[in-house]
Amino acid sequence: MSDCLFCRIIRGEIPSRKVYEDDYTFAFEDINPQAPTHILIVPKKHIRGLKEAVAEDADVIGRSQLVAAHLARERSIEDGYRTVVNVGPRAGQSVFHLHLHLIGGRSLHWPPG
Ligand code: AMP
Ligand code: ZN
Repeated sequence: MSDCLFCRIIRGEIPSRKVYEDDYTFAFEDINPQAPTHILIVPKKHIRGLKEAVAEDADVIGRSQLVAAHLARERSIEDGYRTVVNVGPRAGQSVFHLHLHLIGGRSLHWPPG
């Protein structure tokens, strides 16, 4: 989608602190980090959110989780991290292009707020 923030970041039209890219996903540092590690892993395909995803998106959704695991290993935060998808405005979704938050590097409480 031409005017989507994350599509524009993926195309390089808006700068980001990229940490990983492959044919299917693009990952960069969150601009407002909630933990020492806070990375967004974004499918290159524009998918509005998890509830809009369809069966053919299963591969890239799974790949996003594996990219998170790879980055967590690379950053040595495997003693505790979280992957989070906020779904809908009431859960805090503010960008309507599906993305996975990788959060770690500090103690994480349960249940989340
Ligand atoms: P969510 O609230 O789950 O939709 O997550 C959107 C995330 O995108 C938030 O954590 C924001 O801090 C982050 N964000 C918004 N704009 C940018 C940007 N230009 N670069 C990096 N992260 C951003
Ligand atoms: Zn998009």
